[in-house]
Amino acid sequence: MNLEEYKGVFVFAQQVDNELTPIAFELIGKGKDLAKDLNTDVTAVLIGSDVKSLADELAEYGADKVIVVDDPELKDYRTEPYAHALASVIKEYKPEIMLVGATAIGRDLGPRVSARVKTGLTADCTVLEIGEFKGVANQLLMTRPAFGGNTIATIACPNTRPQMATVRPGVMQKLEPVKGAKAEVIEYNPGFTPDNKYVEILKVVKEAKSAENIMDAKILVSGGRGVGSAENFKMLQDLADVLGGMVSCSRAVVENGWKPVDVQVGQTGKTVRPNLYFAIGISGAIQHVAGMEESDIIIAINKDEDAPIFDVADYGIVGDLNKIVPALTEALKAE
Ligand code: FAD
Repeated sequence: MNLEEYKGVFVFAQQVDNELTPIAFELIGKGKDLAKDLNTDVTAVLIGSDVKSLADELAEYGADKVIVVDDPELKDYRTEPYAHALASVIKEYKPEIMLVGATAIGRDLGPRVSARVKTGLTADCTVLEIGEFKGVANQLLMTRPAFGGNTIATIACPNTRPQMATVRPGVMQKLEPVKGAKAEVIEYNPGFTPDNKYVEILKVVKEAKSAENIMDAKILVSGGRGVGSAENFKMLQDLADVLGGMVSCSRAVVENGWKPVDVQVGQTGKTVRPNLYFAIGISGAIQHVAGMEESDIIIAINKDEDAPIFDVADYGIVGDLNKIVPALTEALKAE
């Protein structure tokens, strides 16, 4: 493999039902950073059926080029045709870096594509930067939590290309869109053989999801095991209502069946960065903190003054949440 042949930062622009997902824009944002350091550009790879019109939106969020693979076979995500499409793009255009979101689709797609193009893949990255590895400059340094979040590993891929990573949704920042920005659009048809379209989708059953997503909330009132019961979350909901925010939680709460997993914050939940994050009855385990430490202002309420959550909090209240939360809500209502 001649590494010199591989140029440019590519990102997989995931779409579902012909709507781009936020991770597509986040990857372009991060890709621009990396591309700047490497003096190259960012190419979004858009795969689907009837998706060409989405290229403009990718351009507005910073893509310099968009490679479109458009085929009726690619209407719904299926492993085989998508892996074939993305692996073919990589073989044809030889990117130096290939980023994929660590979404359900990306986690399925990324490893299969990396195996097909015979390169490595670092899964679920939270930090990506260009740096030196073993004396060689301009390597992609890929950082991710390992061993259940107890250690942080930085991984490089010095001998093969592309350097591939899946990236946690919600961690990287998207750019402000520039209305009317245009990208060079390249249509590419890798061809499909019976081998790579052998699964037929008979029916798509969509999970009923809450209309709002905690990743979009500006204010989150997050509760942990210390809240004590599903009923007690009403207290947190009242506070969230007064502030115009949403309720989220730790994994202990999901495990107890008090809240659904789609409002879980943390390493195996969602990564959030609201303007204001209340951590109420949450101890501050590393796996929880990984999902909320980028919040602008963190307020912790905990009866244990040594709880690790106070290490990341901007403001801390030591005391019983059953007294503090209703008092806070009442005080805010009175304002
Ligand atoms: P606890 O650790 O039990 O803390 C409860 C807190 O409430 C305590 O600090 C206590 O002092 C306080 N408290 C109790 N009563 C009151 C009261 N009346 N007033 C005020 N304070 C009170 N966790 C996540 O949250 N998100 C994840 O995504 C996640 N992923 C994980 C992935 C792996 C691989 C592993 C191994 C673990 C993961 N965890 C995750 C679990 C994590 O390690 C912790 O177990 C979990 O975050 C603890 O939840 P908690 O803080 O709600 O509960």
